[in-house]
Amino acid sequence: MSAHAMQRLAVLGSTGSIGVNTLAVAAMHPDRFRVDALAANRDVDRLFAQCMEFRPRWAVMADETAASRLRERVRAASLPCEVLGGAAALEQIASHPEVGTVMAAIVGAAGLRSTLAAAAAGKKVLLANKEAMVMAGPLVMAAVRETGATLLPIDSEHNAIFQALPAHYAQEPARAGIRRLLLTGSGGPFRNLPTEKFASMTPQQACAHPNWVMGRKISVDSATLMNKGLEVIEAAFLFNVKPEQIEVVIHPQSVVHSLVEYVDGSVIAQLGNPDMRTPIAHALAFPERIENGVAPLDLFAVATLQFERPDLSRFPCLGLAYAALRAGAGAPVILNAANEVAVASFLEGRLSFSRIAVLVEEVLAQMPRMRAGNLQEILAADTEARRVAREWLAAAVH
Ligand code: NDP
Repeated sequence: MSAHAMQRLAVLGSTGSIGVNTLAVAAMHPDRFRVDALAANRDVDRLFAQCMEFRPRWAVMADETAASRLRERVRAASLPCEVLGGAAALEQIASHPEVGTVMAAIVGAAGLRSTLAAAAAGKKVLLANKEAMVMAGPLVMAAVRETGATLLPIDSEHNAIFQALPAHYAQEPARAGIRRLLLTGSGGPFRNLPTEKFASMTPQQACAHPNWVMGRKISVDSATLMNKGLEVIEAAFLFNVKPEQIEVVIHPQSVVHSLVEYVDGSVIAQLGNPDMRTPIAHALAFPERIENGVAPLDLFAVATLQFERPDLSRFPCLGLAYAALRAGAGAPVILNAANEVAVASFLEGRLSFSRIAVLVEEVLAQMPRMRAGNLQEILAADTEARRVAREWLAAAVH
């Protein structure tokens, strides 16, 4: 007899890189996990294949046309699965009474409402969707406090910090003796690229990450170091630390996933091969540990660990993120929205790589200070920042 209760999972963003890895880990432990809901945007083929394999009770496609197509295929295959369409269905699934654990792995602001809904419903929330935390960290944390939800970070850095913190850390760094959080980052594919070459980098080059295979948006963010910037903001909200208590350390091997420095000089790190199945398995099974197919770390093969300071003059996005965190209120929302517009334009070949930071800086400078105390204010700041970003794109010659 197994000692653990069956966890009923909803995987939001199941067709993406994190979603696929989550399902791979869940599939290794059918005695622990039952996949009850899958959700994505419009990748019908992949979601249908996942429905065939996992036979969930619900499948959601945010895109209504895609939902209709999936519904037809599910019916033709006689699967006992209810297909729901539209963004509201994501929230419905995230807060469904029969779902216990929600993997929030939708990319970008599109994941905000469902992540919040899961927290507000008191679920075990596995948080990959860092943009939701950047936009609404204080709201998410308040929802977690009110409902007693369990929030477990999936970002490898935050997951590492979580593992290096005292058990039952209560968002009180001073009481826990924490001096600083050291957030590591590989430096991305352009770590050593001369500045004059940045402008000509293509989406393909930006998405060729040296250590991690990830979705396209986070890959570009890793190349600009905006990913690290978003993570700084995420860490500040998740662990209740000040911006000056978070130091970014460039570590090209991606073996040390982050560190916590304590007042007595102890520095506790979490190490492992760069493989997202480690933080995913950690969060899925928490507080237990489960096998996940990740190869053991071979320190002799790694041999050398390097650590460098980030170069903010070559990677201005990281500095912009710190500035937005310090400015507070709606600034992180604006930063995130402008970045989402900039990255999408870059991926479509309409904006050069080096102009991503320029656009984000421009939008932050042009926008008035906006409040972000509730969901309505956050969404208003997001919409306005996207409008300003598109206006700048339409007017500027790139
Ligand atoms: P992918 O681009 O691989 O996948 C994105 C997922 O989100 C897909 O399932 C996609 O569906 C879905 N999606 C996109 N837009 C919508 C929408 N409007 N409504 C519903 N679903 C939507 O991204 P990743 O898996 O790489 O990243 C997911 C999140 O996890 C991001 O926030 C990222 O920052 C974070 N993360 C990722 C890491 C990684 O290693 N990949 C590491 C740490 C964090 P469809 O396929 O149908 O478009």
